[in-house]
Amino acid sequence: MAATRRPGRNHLFVPGPTNIPDRVMRAMQVQSEDHRSVDFPSLTKPLFEDTKKVFGSTDGTIFLFPASGTGIWESALTNTLARGDKVLAARFGQFSHLWIDMAQRLGLDVIVQEEEWGTGAKPEKIEEALRADKNHEIKAVMVVHNETATGVTSNIGAVRKAIDAAGHPALLFVDGVSSIGSLPFKADEWKVDCAIAGSQKGLMLPAGLGVICVSPKALKAAEGQSGRNDRLARVYFDWEDQKKQNPTGYFPYTPPLPLLYGLREALACLFEEGLENVYHRHAVLGEATRQAVAAWGLKTCAKSSEWNSDTVTAILAPEGVDAAKIIKHAYVRYNLALGAGLSQVAGKVFRIGHVGDLNELSLLGAIAGAEMSLIDNGVNVTPGSGVAAASSYLREHPLSKG
Ligand code: PLP
Repeated sequence: MAATRRPGRNHLFVPGPTNIPDRVMRAMQVQSEDHRSVDFPSLTKPLFEDTKKVFGSTDGTIFLFPASGTGIWESALTNTLARGDKVLAARFGQFSHLWIDMAQRLGLDVIVQEEEWGTGAKPEKIEEALRADKNHEIKAVMVVHNETATGVTSNIGAVRKAIDAAGHPALLFVDGVSSIGSLPFKADEWKVDCAIAGSQKGLMLPAGLGVICVSPKALKAAEGQSGRNDRLARVYFDWEDQKKQNPTGYFPYTPPLPLLYGLREALACLFEEGLENVYHRHAVLGEATRQAVAAWGLKTCAKSSEWNSDTVTAILAPEGVDAAKIIKHAYVRYNLALGAGLSQVAGKVFRIGHVGDLNELSLLGAIAGAEMSLIDNGVNVTPGSGVAAASSYLREHPLSKG
């Protein structure tokens, strides 16, 4: 009989959901509780304030929804925009595509800037489109900060400068699902009006808690929608209901209690390490992964270093090699979960997620497993080459800034 048990720990290196620290798992093991009790706000009130720190915000308002990142996309769009409103969005990967698709299905008029997959949002093109929009018909600019499908990070600070240079009042919506809590994110400095996160990546929790940080300008835009006949339908994701309850520490409906306790512990982990150290650690692990890829003689999907993501590396399989086989073999033979290629890059890339709770040796396990799977699939890679390159880099670059 074939063995069904895979001994040892599964190595989870998809770029989300990510590994959950043991202390966060323990923190989520709680008995149910009365979420209308007098005690409840002592859990929730500090959470709203502390969560803002990972968004780089003091001015923003946090809303926590029982949802994944996709729900929070919807929350941003439906609270602030009306049917037929123009929005500007760059498409350069599966997640920017899906967000655009949602905006179109909600009845928005999306001006799509098509960018080559492996690159990201182009601030100069955004500025040009906004300058041309003399009547300010474009109500929002939508950008995916870290395109998880291709391992590409866009420069949100430069997008903000482009909007300001054009003197345009459009709102700025940023999908930070695979960046917030792992890459530097400055919601206030970049004047991000809706910053969107999910619990299952940099926040090191299970999926199920959607987080949005909303600027005062976006809150005002949402208030301006009320009473309009052409406003987008919103009920569950309406900020108005949250605004009535959250300041006193309550929610308009039953909150996912274990996730709230988990969030409290995950934030404690991030703050104990120090956010600057967290960002530095991701930068080091990202570069170590890229050193391994170069040593294998392979290329990343990111077209040049300016686009490199420090939370996920998408690696192009050599011509004639099916990346899906590399992924399947890594899972079945070595108990290693690598990220699949999505849509346009399905079968062409495999991804190593390096986001969340991981260190040098956990990353080296993934690199070793990927390397073995490449070799087993006939790719001409020198055994140990990726591990050697990554480990040399890691020895020279401590994960902590000290
Ligand atoms: N945006 C990005 C950049 C993502 O990586 C993902 C999921 O991986 C999503 C949005 C969708 O989030 P969710 O799967 O939590 O709905």
